Amino acid sequence: MKRALITGITGQDGSFLAEFLLERGYKVFGFARSESWAQPNNASHLSTKIHVLFGDMSEGSDIYSALQESKPDEIYNLASQSRPGASWVRAPETLMINGMGAIRLFEAVRHSCPKARTYHASSSEMFGNAKCIPQNEETPFNPVNPYAAAKVYAHQMVKIYRESFGLFISSGILFNHESERRPLYFVTQKIAYGAACAALGIKNSLELNERGMPIVARGKLSLGNLDVARDWGCAIDFVRAMWLMLQQDRPDDFVVGTGQLHTLRQLCEVAYARVGLNWQDHVVSDPELARPLETGQTLADASKARKVLNWEPTIGFEEMVGKMVDTQTGRLQTIVGNK
Ligand code: NAP
Repeated sequence: MKRALITGITGQDGSFLAEFLLERGYKVFGFARSESWAQPNNASHLSTKIHVLFGDMSEGSDIYSALQESKPDEIYNLASQSRPGASWVRAPETLMINGMGAIRLFEAVRHSCPKARTYHASSSEMFGNAKCIPQNEETPFNPVNPYAAAKVYAHQMVKIYRESFGLFISSGILFNHESERRPLYFVTQKIAYGAACAALGIKNSLELNERGMPIVARGKLSLGNLDVARDWGCAIDFVRAMWLMLQQDRPDDFVVGTGQLHTLRQLCEVAYARVGLNWQDHVVSDPELARPLETGQTLADASKARKVLNWEPTIGFEEMVGKMVDTQTGRLQTIVGNK
């Protein structure tokens, strides 16, 4: 039985990846902060199937102990301060976890289990204001926020550890991927939530935005720049790509994305149409919510992943957004019904 250790097990990708590996007969270990595991989280439903090891990516000794205990064949490093927007106000923490946390892990792997294969979560945010569209593994990075800068640092260190010590570490340069497990502070989930509120006639939402105001106030969802376009895929497809990277003969870097661009405006259109409404009656654009420096147009050229990994996305944009809206509607119906 293969053994896998996942950092960031409580997150969107960590929980989907754990399900994916369990289905394939892996013994799965999750690395989690104890205070996060104590709360309901994305992997709570797996608590009897996985082994949780407590620790923090800011503590090298925690990571080392987790490797000693789990003795993994495969390691998936997904833990991160994963909000590019919030990284402006949490820059030191972002570098500490996304940059230094990765180095702590690579060092621990080098000394404790050098034969293990490691997947590291890089990000399309590293392309930032990219000079060319679409982007592939050869495109230069041009990060525009602290999150992306920390990811570039860790990404370069993957290559350095690979070449200097012969470790099997692969980086996935993943483009945006979403699901019903995305936290509400991500714009995609906010839109799904807004559509669900509109469908249920909720004019002032219980949940608050980053400014401490209801996400939906007086019947309106406030968003930043609606012309922002992203390559949005579905998380279930993307965790399969992570696993495929570790099944190859040699470590490498892979861009993973759908190759299709959609704007926030289009996302709103699909989400509100799911509940039979016109998004323009329910959404307003507020310039104050835009990022200080917006990431440019990033679009995946995932031809290497398609060719080498035989990877293809299977879940389309409409299907994914539809499921997110349905899940939020069901969740809110339960809350309203219980009141
Ligand atoms: P997520 O849902 O935000 O999960 C992040 C995970 O990291 C959580 O389990 C979180 O645990 C954990 N974490 C944060 N700080 C930690 C610390 N100090 N010690 C231990 N664990 C810590 O993110 P995701 O969407 O699953 O993304 C997974 C990875 O892929 C991340 O590295 C992200 O940056 C990268 N990525 C994501 C996307 C995307 O579109 N989803 C795209 C490209 C790259 P807590 O519950 O304790 O906070």
